[in-house]
Amino acid sequence: MAYSSEVYSAASRVLEERRRNAERLASLKKADVYARFPEIKKMDSELSRNMSELSVLILRGGKDLDSALEEMKSENAKIEKKRAEILVENGLPENYLEPQYTCKKCSDLGRKNGILCSCYKEVCRSEAQKELAASSGSAACSFDNFDLSYYADNGANDGTNPRRKMQNYSGFCIKYANEFSADSPSIVMMGKTGLGKTHLSLAIAKTVIEGGFGVVYVPAQKLVSNLEREHFSGSASDAFMRKYANCDLLIIDDLGAEFQSSFANSAIGNLINERLYENRPTIISTNLTGKELAERYSERTASRILGEYRKLYFVGEDIRFLKNR
Ligand SMILES: [Zn+2]
Repeated sequence: MAYSSEVYSAASRVLEERRRNAERLASLKKADVYARFPEIKKMDSELSRNMSELSVLILRGGKDLDSALEEMKSENAKIEKKRAEILVENGLPENYLEPQYTCKKCSDLGRKNGILCSCYKEVCRSEAQKELAASSGSAACSFDNFDLSYYADNGANDGTNPRRKMQNYSGFCIKYANEFSADSPSIVMMGKTGLGKTHLSLAIAKTVIEGGFGVVYVPAQKLVSNLEREHFSGSASDAFMRKYANCDLLIIDDLGAEFQSSFANSAIGNLINERLYENRPTIISTNLTGKELAERYSERTASRILGEYRKLYFVGEDIRFLKNR
């Protein structure tokens, strides 16, 4: 679980908001109940006075401490029982004045005894999906709506039938996404524009996020401009570089569409290298052929991608064109 710092911050904000809401509601209810049942207000003051006395007793210590504690406990229990009775007699649940947290396990703190609570992980997943939708501009791409009917069902069954081939690729991607782990291979999706590379890589992203992993999807042009700004701004921050280097799965869309510069080429090369070295899977989609990759990037970068990534060669006709026809 290596999400971007934006996802962690957004998740913490969601939990804080839940907690604040629960406490605000509880204090509104308390004000109302105190006005209707002044005896409950009196009991609450008594309980809190007892709690302060209890702390004093504990600090003071002494041989009578145990019996004094017992006495106070039973006194408090009596008050609490009476208090609950008044609430119930008036048709209210006995915990009516307690904040009703969304997560009972951690009171919306996100962790308990130093361990992350399942609610925090859940919120992280949902924030990661929102981040994916925002960064890709599309929340709609999934395996379910990957439409094979756009691929021609012709040619012999020897791997040249486009539909058969894409069906295999889609099956491979579904399995890849469902079984994703740090040991998963990197993938390069090659082929012309409009053959479904972005669709399948976003579908993988969604499923992998559901599995509790941090995924960063970024078009190559955006990746380069973010890194460039970071590098040339003179700031000491390398937040974007860390975000791209450290996420569980990095998806670089449309490699080769970025403005070419020696900075861009070396930044991309370094990133690809670092992720391979750290054993962190990457998915690249590109319209470039293997030869063009080698011409554009360093020999080393191209041979890393072509030699160590699992290669998927997309085939067919431009789906955007077919949809408009
Ligand atoms: Zn929780």
